[in-house]
Amino acid sequence: MEKTFSIIKPDAVKAGNAGAILSRIEKAGFRIVGLRMRHLTTREAQGFYHVHKARPFFGELVNFMSSGPCITMVLERENAILGLRDLMGATNPANAAAGTIRKDFAASIEANAIHGSDAPETAAFEISYFFPGIEL
Ligand code: ADP
Ligand code: MG
Repeated sequence: MEKTFSIIKPDAVKAGNAGAILSRIEKAGFRIVGLRMRHLTTREAQGFYHVHKARPFFGELVNFMSSGPCITMVLERENAILGLRDLMGATNPANAAAGTIRKDFAASIEANAIHGSDAPETAAFEISYFFPGIEL
């Protein structure tokens, strides 16, 4: 079993797609280990995305991620990290495969509905950043 970290981003919560996205996650065999709705502060969003701080879109990304409530989650499954990335689809919804969450719910490369950890090291950092009480 492996754990990963995910966020249903503010665009998807605002559009009323949180339930549909969560349903897809559960149907794909993930167990919800932790879940909390939060409205991120600028500082929390900056810390979470610190690996992107040199990217030109960093400021906008931080504004977007703190623009409204989001749903933070720890998910468990076999091959959870890569499995969730497959379910999410490509970062840019224009390139996302049919049937993926981003293809069906994302509006743009920035407002792309869902986050998922991309590797074991980032999953460990991201889980402990938002759910320090959950064992890795
Ligand atoms: P992913 O979320 O697929 O792992 P990245 O880690 O590359 O993608 O980027 C983190 C987030 O930053 C993306 O999910 C998206 O919200 C935003 N982002 C990525 N690339 C761009 C871009 N070129 N312009 C605006 N926002 C972007
Ligand atoms: Mg990423």
